[in-house]
Amino acid sequence: MDIILLGPPGAGKGTQAHRLMEHHGMRQLSTGDMLRAAVKAGTPVGIKAKAIMDAGELVSDEIVSELIDAELTAMGPDTGAIFDGYPRTEKQAEILDGLLAKHGRSLDHVIELDVDEDALVARITGRYTCANCGEGYHDTFKQPEVEGVCDKCGSTEFKRRPDDNEETVRHRMQVYRSETAPILPGYEARGIVSRVDGMAAIGDVTHAIDAILG
Ligand SMILES: [Zn+2]
Repeated sequence: MDIILLGPPGAGKGTQAHRLMEHHGMRQLSTGDMLRAAVKAGTPVGIKAKAIMDAGELVSDEIVSELIDAELTAMGPDTGAIFDGYPRTEKQAEILDGLLAKHGRSLDHVIELDVDEDALVARITGRYTCANCGEGYHDTFKQPEVEGVCDKCGSTEFKRRPDDNEETVRHRMQVYRSETAPILPGYEARGIVSRVDGMAAIGDVTHAIDAILG
């Protein structure tokens, strides 16, 4: 079973990918991680990639393909792949089809964690933590029992992450949409796109994904 997992930052993609790996023995193929690992290990493709990155250039589709090809060989046919952050262009989507076919595989599902942008903004901008013990709170969903006092440690100091602001969240959504726009129509036409409510409880999202995987 090979899938692409899509979703904007804050949709819970990392959590769900982790669960898929744990429950189904799947492997997450994140091109960024694979690239870093190859550079660190000094493999032939890693050495090539490092030279390109050191020159300040973007790593080509060809190099990314080599990485995925090697990973699919290493995984073997029985381990399902979760593609994350790839493909981002129509050309890459075609390349991926070719690579999978070469290994006797094909893409089964493209699963998008759907979010309501305003709800996501509320979810992210409302969160804050105790400056002393790190306990997490939320303006709407989880206030301290005594206003302004941490339940866990009694501290009255709290902090917010600077990028948990509306502008940043909306910008990330925009970037996400522009990245998925080129690849979604092709997959829609093949009838393999499914959407899951990413705003639901984590366990419910997992069940919905499991139901799609069958
Ligand atoms: Zn505290």
